[in-house]
Amino acid sequence: MRHQPKNLRSRILILSGVTLALILLTFVFMLRFFWRDFLENTQRANAREAVTASMLIQGALVDASKILDVAKTELERSLEHGSIDPKRSHEILRDSLENFSIYNTQDVFGLLLFLDERGQLLARSGEYPAQRIDLSNRNYFLDLRDDPSKEFALGRLRKAATTGKIVFHLSMPVHGPGQTFTGVVVIQLDEAELASKLTEMLEVNPARKIHLVTTDGHTLLLYPNPGQSLGDVDPMNPILQTLSRKSPSPRGSLKIRGGTPGFPSSYYASFHRDSLFGFTSWSCVPESEIRSLFLKRSQHMILLFGLATLGITALFIRLYRQARRLESALHQATTDQATGLPNRRALEIQSGTLWSDASRHGRTITAVFFDIDRFKDFNDTWGHHTGDRVIRLLAGLLRKCSDRPLDFFCRWGGEEFLILLPETGIQGGVTLARRIRKALNSVHLENGGGKLPSVTISVGVASSEYQPAASVQELIERADLRMLEAKSSGRDRIVAEGIDSQDVVAG
Ligand code: GH3
Ligand code: MG
Ligand code: MG
Repeated sequence: MRHQPKNLRSRILILSGVTLALILLTFVFMLRFFWRDFLENTQRANAREAVTASMLIQGALVDASKILDVAKTELERSLEHGSIDPKRSHEILRDSLENFSIYNTQDVFGLLLFLDERGQLLARSGEYPAQRIDLSNRNYFLDLRDDPSKEFALGRLRKAATTGKIVFHLSMPVHGPGQTFTGVVVIQLDEAELASKLTEMLEVNPARKIHLVTTDGHTLLLYPNPGQSLGDVDPMNPILQTLSRKSPSPRGSLKIRGGTPGFPSSYYASFHRDSLFGFTSWSCVPESEIRSLFLKRSQHMILLFGLATLGITALFIRLYRQARRLESALHQATTDQATGLPNRRALEIQSGTLWSDASRHGRTITAVFFDIDRFKDFNDTWGHHTGDRVIRLLAGLLRKCSDRPLDFFCRWGGEEFLILLPETGIQGGVTLARRIRKALNSVHLENGGGKLPSVTISVGVASSEYQPAASVQELIERADLRMLEAKSSGRDRIVAEGIDSQDVVAG
């Protein structure tokens, strides 16, 4: 029936589901929150590192341009007094470099070179006389020869023909009298040396890569693997170029999606464009690396949530098992073992709810009380075992005859039964009682092949429809009194409040 107490186990299941879902939601929310925070920090670190690298290279280039400027001025001054010979050029280059190194600790500078207007190496700071090398195809020469307005040129990363080191070059034009292009002074910057300086300045993150790309599309420096991009094999270069050019802002952070040419996986990157020399410094960390670092950092939180989930699941399993034991105990305590019907204790639990429901909604409630007639005699004649069969039979009939889910029936005790009919008037109670009596009449009991005499019942019906009752107990007592009336007036009949006995029998 509907007024059964709500299943404790299903409530525990719902509660555990909700709790675990909440834990999961909180976990996902926190993980997302920390992930965003972690990403922001990574991008901030990227931005910092890009600026650091940019500053280092800018500083080196500024120093390099100072050296070049001194050499260029000296060379141009010599040119004013006629042509300039290799020996004098060598001295100028050597002095420019040596003078500078007195007050500068930078050791990133390689040789200082002087190329004539045809790109032939005329002099170099290292040794005299310099070997004649044709450097006319170098862009640090061509750029300045072809564009007189250019004050400097940044060369590509390459293996120096003079020293074999991996270097890039900064060059300045040298003009003769009348501003004629007479050659270029060039200084080498050692990539490996610059990279090792970066190592001292950057935070340790083995996965972070620093790329310095020039405006004309070349890699100036690659950290932490200098020399790797030699011959323009740096696969990241083209996209970094495009991105650097696209951005109107001199600095920024972005995510480079995997699948982009040169980027098989996604990267988080920040860049900083140098305003003096026009190169862009990129600091990039692969997303996979950030993820694994994030997981490493969050493992305590993940462990904590995992343990909490396990603990709570274990607690709910325990609760569920206890509830199952409790429910089974409750079922046993409220069920009559012989018939399987609810017992008096079940009635005590249920009747309160039934009564308060009926009172609240102003609905009638009817009680039907049964008692088997002369059952002591029956037992005495046919034995208790047969008597028990009759009781079970009657319990089965009650179940069959009361078809409404709201009806509550129970074994009151002994050979007595009670039915409470909510939302039912006195006539409904009488109809049900008649149906049971009829069903009982049509049963033919047998015992060891012999036919047993038919069993009759006396029924009392009381209803709040006839007379309001102060409690369900009062209504049951009234039904009991009617049942006793039925006994005293001859048994095997129904006595209902407010209905003439004749009408009951006739109906
Ligand atoms: P009345 O018509 O006045 O009700 O007569 P009665 O004999 O049925 O009433 P009484 O109260 O004198 O006796 C009730 C009998 O019901 C006593 C007992 O033998 C029998 N009885 C009660 N519970 C059980 C049961 O579980 N099994 C069996 N076999 N008999 C029971
Ligand atoms: Mg009795
Ligand atoms: Mg009896």
